[in-house]
Amino acid sequence: MFGRLISIMNKKILLVEDEEKIARFTELELKHEGYEVTKAFNGRDGLAMAETEEFDLVLLDIMLPELNGLEVLRRIRKFSDMPVIMLTARDAVMDKVSGLDAGADDYITKPFAIEELLARIRVVFKKRGTDRNDSKHVCKVTPMLSAKGVTLDEDRHEVMCQGEEIELTHREYELLRTLLQNKNIVLDREKLLSMVCGYDYVGETNIIDVYVRYLRTKIDDRFGIKLISTIRGVGYAIKDENKRERKPAEGSGKNETE
Ligand code: CA
Repeated sequence: MFGRLISIMNKKILLVEDEEKIARFTELELKHEGYEVTKAFNGRDGLAMAETEEFDLVLLDIMLPELNGLEVLRRIRKFSDMPVIMLTARDAVMDKVSGLDAGADDYITKPFAIEELLARIRVVFKKRGTDRNDSKHVCKVTPMLSAKGVTLDEDRHEVMCQGEEIELTHREYELLRTLLQNKNIVLDREKLLSMVCGYDYVGETNIIDVYVRYLRTKIDDRFGIKLISTIRGVGYAIKDENKRERKPAEGSGKNETE
């Protein structure tokens, strides 16, 4: 935990988003996590800031006044390799594809839960190994995730139970990681789908049921435990006996749309 705080400190994020409510909320949450945040409300300003200042990450909305997000991204890529996460509207599959083609590191669909955004940001930093201050002080420690004797080591990409390694496919691993990161939070299928599968599978929430079944075969059946709980009519959660179950926090940008 402490290690992660240290690695976040001094990371600068440029947030380019014209919807004030989303921008303000996102800024608050990012600052709360320890990031430095600079905001721009249109594409032209965002591009100008990216040209004049060095950022660790750009959160870039696609539908922007003055200059759209894809164009901003194309122009940023002419002079910089800084990580970019696109903010896209639900169902705008072409935007996502174009964004990734144009050199985005990832995208997140609006409305997003803040914990999902934070997770995506961490993944991008990890993949890129990006740290403007790397040489100075950064101590990167990813906490081990665990529940009911199952441990997931993000650094080693390894899942263990009772001393044995569990072989998981990419998506099974992502699903397990997402549930462990959100322990005691009930996640609905829609949210899990976008967190685990991304843009390929918009709407096909029963895919999550399939992956849960695979995980149960590989973990529950093999080791005789009950790891993932089904919350009927809602979704799934990994419950930790020591803590109470809770729903995702209110005001997580749920009702905001493009
Ligand atoms: Ca917008």
